[in-house]
Amino acid sequence: MPRCLRAVCLIVLTLSGPGVGAAWASGTASPSVYLEDMTWTELRDRIAAGSTTVLVPIGGTEQSGPHMVLGKHNARVRFLAGQIAQRAGGTVVAPVLAYVPEGAIHPPQAHMRFAGTISIPDAAFEAVLEGAARSFKQHGFRHVVFLGDHGGYQQLEARVAQRLNHEWASDPSCRVHALAEYYQVTQSLYVAELLKKGFTRAEIGTHAGLADTSLSLAMDPALVRADALTQAAQAGRRGGVYGDPRRASAELGRIGVNQIVDSSVAALHALMQGPAGSSPAPTSPKK
Ligand SMILES: [Zn+2]
Repeated sequence: MPRCLRAVCLIVLTLSGPGVGAAWASGTASPSVYLEDMTWTELRDRIAAGSTTVLVPIGGTEQSGPHMVLGKHNARVRFLAGQIAQRAGGTVVAPVLAYVPEGAIHPPQAHMRFAGTISIPDAAFEAVLEGAARSFKQHGFRHVVFLGDHGGYQQLEARVAQRLNHEWASDPSCRVHALAEYYQVTQSLYVAELLKKGFTRAEIGTHAGLADTSLSLAMDPALVRADALTQAAQAGRRGGVYGDPRRASAELGRIGVNQIVDSSVAALHALMQGPAGSSPAPTSPKK
């Protein structure tokens, strides 16, 4: 490839990212909320100016049928964390955690039965979250907020938050929260809205069905293989699909996206308004 063409590609790639490049591309002055897009001095100044909440987006690498990419959770939680941080204000977004517990590897359990799913032990997952939270406390953040896109590890997040808050009881400068609302809304309000529109529970599904696939379509159609939707519906559980994604759409997904962002921002504001030390104890999330 000629050097100038390569340079153009590089610029296009840079500008197409969701970070600082996107701000340049749109001509806005609003700086990126993603920690990875900042230098350490920029982050230090941001913290000093009052950005003292950090979202830790937790994704996962798992099968989602023949029609959704293995990185679904990672792409989704990165996008949503960015939206939530921008709306909430005073908040930055940590790198996405893409390696999470997915059950037994051998013999393989649940999603591990399908190629590409990656599973790590619960203890390793908790240790990573704990190390990240300790790091952010060290750097002056007052609220460390876990944002988990997958159901299976919600209780582990809450356990880490509880453990650290207990340890830091005498030093309440920083609190850790597992933001249960982020995930719960996809299991409650979003499903209720889809039912109201006439879709059945069987169709809406619990994994890679109409609800899940619509969310992905709303964020980035490239996450979904439109020509594999029929195959996915026919394969059902044998193909890793729990639901029917054939009538999924970006429009339906946007309902869920708005609900996730609205309820997460409201929950975040409630946490941020009180002094760090007076934050409520983590709630035990529903699966
Ligand atoms: Zn999942």
